[in-house]
Amino acid sequence: MPSSNRGIALVTGGSRGIGRAAAIRLATSGFDIWLAYHSNHAAAAEVKSEIEELGRSCECMAFDVSDYDAVKSALAERVEKTPPYAVVINAGIARDNLLVWMQKEEWDQVLRTDLDGFFNITNTVLFSMLAQRRGRIVSVASVSAQTGQAGQANYAAAKAGIIGASKSLAREVGKRNICVNVVSPGVIDTDMTAELPREEVTSLIPMNRFGSAREVAAVIDFLCSEEHMYIHGQVIGVNGGLAM
Ligand code: NDP
Repeated sequence: MPSSNRGIALVTGGSRGIGRAAAIRLATSGFDIWLAYHSNHAAAAEVKSEIEELGRSCECMAFDVSDYDAVKSALAERVEKTPPYAVVINAGIARDNLLVWMQKEEWDQVLRTDLDGFFNITNTVLFSMLAQRRGRIVSVASVSAQTGQAGQANYAAAKAGIIGASKSLAREVGKRNICVNVVSPGVIDTDMTAELPREEVTSLIPMNRFGSAREVAAVIDFLCSEEHMYIHGQVIGVNGGLAM
């Protein structure tokens, strides 16, 4: 029996990892899902059928979040017709390298995807959301933005940019009943962290384990809840104590 319809949640990077878990969790909470991803059609199709089994609808849309025109052409018309209630800006990549060896392309790719992606999506959805005078925007940053991380100057810069941009946006749209918050995960078990030296990294985490995508999804879902939300402009760490 599906729970009551809470409107649409747009989730970027919804085909895998944290985005996948968030899409499924939000569908369980009663949202219909717009599942945005880049190119992994098979993974997106799996998420779609899991969501449909929950009794909710799921529309898949493949585009590159770093491409302003592609974002506009995938979303602008849709959003004008049916503004989403919740927008989860989660798509992201890492291209780790020490700054001294970092290639311009590694810097640019990460900034374009992780930070320009934030602008491209919010700039496209905001006007319609403002007209509704309700909504939730949750972005996914990273503990690396808060503490710094050797080998991740590009990634930390992009994610710190998301935090600054989200706080600014929160000041712009709070009056219109749109809550803007950031979830900042630590080390989460997904494709992105598959190559990390597991034991070495685990020993640095006070909870002595990687987090799961579902644990991050639970916080995203909470921040998208309609109940008396007075959490606004905040950065919520989900990091097992890695940063305190
Ligand atoms: P994954 O690598 O598992 O999944 C990445 C997702 O983003 C996929 O759905 C992918 O689509 C999509 N994506 C990648 N590039 C683009 C693009 N240019 N345009 C559109 N979609 C794109 O990542 P995680 O689930 O681990 O990470 C999700 C978010 O959480 C990221 O922003 C990441 O930086 C952040 N994060 C992750 C942490 C971790 O430990 N895993 C820690 C802290 C933050 P497709 O499947 O089509 O490739």
